[in-house]
Amino acid sequence: MRYAFSKLAKNDYAKYPFLKAAIKYVQIPDLRIQDLADSNRENILKRAQQRLEEAIFDNIVSRDLHHEDIEIISFPVAVMLAMATKNSFIQKRYALAEANQTYEDLRKESEEKTLEVAKNFGWELASNKESRMPYRFALNLVDYLRNTTHLREKPWKLVNRMLSNGNVYLGIDEVARLLKEEVRRHIEKRLELKELPAFPPKITEIAEKIRKLSEDTIGKTEMEGFPKAIVQVAFPPCIKALYESFSSGRHLSHVGRFTLTSFLINIGMPPETVVEFFKSFSDYNERMTRYQVEHIAGEKGSRTRYIPPKCDTLKTHGVCTNPDELCQRMRHPLSYYRIKVKAT
Ligand code: SF4
Repeated sequence: MRYAFSKLAKNDYAKYPFLKAAIKYVQIPDLRIQDLADSNRENILKRAQQRLEEAIFDNIVSRDLHHEDIEIISFPVAVMLAMATKNSFIQKRYALAEANQTYEDLRKESEEKTLEVAKNFGWELASNKESRMPYRFALNLVDYLRNTTHLREKPWKLVNRMLSNGNVYLGIDEVARLLKEEVRRHIEKRLELKELPAFPPKITEIAEKIRKLSEDTIGKTEMEGFPKAIVQVAFPPCIKALYESFSSGRHLSHVGRFTLTSFLINIGMPPETVVEFFKSFSDYNERMTRYQVEHIAGEKGSRTRYIPPKCDTLKTHGVCTNPDELCQRMRHPLSYYRIKVKAT
């Protein structure tokens, strides 16, 4: 089946299953929550579970384009499973992991299909017709601003962009990056259902397995999250010492630098701010520092966000400095921070 007005085929909807028209391509009649526990739907449920597991392990959800129906319908089922976990960390991670894959696909996508995906979100994106502008796309300024407000890197600042007739000019990678944000927000919104339906026992059981897997893989501490503002007085002694050394421009060992960076990232400091901090190092190299910080933050390479080493490891490497009374009960610097923040 192919809709005359769409430039996308079923295979594309398997790649971008969050698009409004995707579900129309599936040959499966209306699927109700109760039906998911049905043994005939086992493949769908299995793939939905796999989508979430990939998000937890790899921070990216792969695509199986050989089984289009299952691929398309397993997406809304995975959203339902994520809801059933009742865990905002898993839900956010899932939204980001789907968006990460979309970014990878869109970077290699044809112009025509990229425009279709953008149209789905109401973007005014067009092929660039101005030959003097060395870019493939022109995006309406309002759409550009809406999608770049939280992107702190310099190239996204409007003063660094080419503008003409209310349009911002962009390359394919940049369009893919902005659509990634749109997709992440779109999925997060779908997950924001205030009143959850009653899930069949089988769904609750799988959701519980996913929660457990997430705790084992990522750690309870990180999953519970931290307040948005950074509370410096709650830093554990080891991090305070690293932070002071770093602020006074002293050299940090590799482990020290990794510990400080991953700690700051995990308590909510944006990677861009961490890069700025490292500028005071005498051996500062912006390109290298940015790569390392973004790698630790899970924005590059393996797309896994790293957490600081445990206290035992830090003791072995001589990074544990002046442990205090609270440290006696701690096994991880992030646990120390979480407890101290609650007490302040
Ligand atoms: S015990 Fe842990 S949290 Fe406390 S200073 Fe040592 S490494 Fe840091």
